[in-house]
Amino acid sequence: MLCNQAEITVEIRSDGWCLQGKDFIAWVDDAVNSVLSYYGKYPIKRTRIIIDQKEGRGIMGGLTSFDEDSQSGVIEIAMGKDTQPEDLTNTWTLTHEMVHLTFPLVNDQYNWLSEGIATYTEPLGRMRRGIISREQVWKDLVEGTPKGQPQAGDMGLNRTNTWGRTYWGGAIYCLLADIEIRKRSENRFGLEHALRGIMESGANAESDLLSAPEILTLGDLSTRNSVLTELYEAMKETPVTVDLSKIWQELGITVCGDSIKFDDNAPLANIRKAIENGHDRGELASR
Ligand SMILES: [Zn+2]
Repeated sequence: MLCNQAEITVEIRSDGWCLQGKDFIAWVDDAVNSVLSYYGKYPIKRTRIIIDQKEGRGIMGGLTSFDEDSQSGVIEIAMGKDTQPEDLTNTWTLTHEMVHLTFPLVNDQYNWLSEGIATYTEPLGRMRRGIISREQVWKDLVEGTPKGQPQAGDMGLNRTNTWGRTYWGGAIYCLLADIEIRKRSENRFGLEHALRGIMESGANAESDLLSAPEILTLGDLSTRNSVLTELYEAMKETPVTVDLSKIWQELGITVCGDSIKFDDNAPLANIRKAIENGHDRGELASR
């Protein structure tokens, strides 16, 4: 499969799958297009997707790395051999792993940043691709983000690497950054422009730039502010509890049981819509 000069190969291990070749290809195609819909281009030249067969049904896990010998991003997916086509439509895993290719594969200290970005941007990309609804995206964020708040004894994001702080604490960082970048730029820029700027500067899975402050500075240059750095400084050592209720209220989001309502007259409703839909990229600052 070729995409924007990028070569993506899919290696399906073992026989006896319920899925057919075309099902795997459609699933990879959806993930690629979800990433493209958020990032505008595919991050690296070569990617190998390796599908390991497990017993059972569904996707059991994913892992992303970079192989220096073949100069390829490597995404390993553990999948049950009884998996059905509809299981693939409903899974976020491959898109999540592919988002990891857009950002340096940082070490444990900064893992929350990498996982937070993947947790936050994967559903937005899949929504823009038409795979999931905006209701689903916001409901998952409203329900998921409280898991990222600091618990008793937790320290800042660089120093507490529990599951909640890593995935959802990182997602809270991304949400705050998205809103603040949009506020300061009158909605011309959002987190997506900062993340595209990082990727297009060459800081992706191929890169050996592994210092979070340096990576985030590249994002700030793209959006002509210092939001990523300021938030990083505020949250890296110190546990910060975020008033999430206030954020949902300002964005005009109310979740009640299984239903979700949007208020287009809320103060930050336009920011919510821009987060959902994206818009033409603003003119990037010259670098
Ligand atoms: Zn991940």
